[in-house]
Amino acid sequence: MKIPLLALSLILMPLSGNEVTTYTKAEILGDVNPAQHRGFDKLKSKYTTKADAYLRDEVYDAFKKMWKHAQKDGISLTIISATRNREYQSGIWNRKWNSFGGSEEDRANRILEYSSMPGTSRHHWGTDFDINALENEYFEQGQGLKEYEWMQAHAHKYGFFQPYTAFNNYRDAGYHEEKWHWSYYPTASRFLRAYNHLVTYDDLQNFTGWQYAEKLDVINNYVNGIEVSEKVKNN
Ligand SMILES: [Zn+2]
Repeated sequence: MKIPLLALSLILMPLSGNEVTTYTKAEILGDVNPAQHRGFDKLKSKYTTKADAYLRDEVYDAFKKMWKHAQKDGISLTIISATRNREYQSGIWNRKWNSFGGSEEDRANRILEYSSMPGTSRHHWGTDFDINALENEYFEQGQGLKEYEWMQAHAHKYGFFQPYTAFNNYRDAGYHEEKWHWSYYPTASRFLRAYNHLVTYDDLQNFTGWQYAEKLDVINNYVNGIEVSEKVKNN
């Protein structure tokens, strides 16, 4: 049977589209090295304070466009943290675990105010980054406030949103507000779907206090404890 060329191309088309891209468990859990992964780009020094910062190609492209627009408006956006792998996140986690006091559960809860358990960070995905300062206060006055207001007005046009908003009726669990943390919705939303499909608590082990991952239900409360603005969804 002959299949008309047009019909054939319609059948094949979805396979080459972004919608069907799937990610490996290693990519989802932060077990890849972005320096050696072809999906990532190294950021030029004008965009970041870090010597070697990486983002996914499409995230970096969108960021560069947004950065340029911001520059024109007198706003500078500097990435201070981008992709972090699971090993790096373990370093952050263990350092805080050893420096905080209290019961183990208290420590885990306290670290989780602002830091992720290894294997649960959106920074693993190459879709998220922190800009300018790791303090909400910075973004509440002066130049920082101008930068934050600019992001609120324009970031969604480039696909970016702030996943960790202040707690509200819609978002009542998870990390505290992070005005510095921004995420690229088109790719990150696919990562989150893949995460919910593939990852279980058996995958979140091998760090101090891993037993609290399931006890505190970090997949529901933290990985999924985000708010997605309507304007980025509708963009
Ligand atoms: Zn962050």
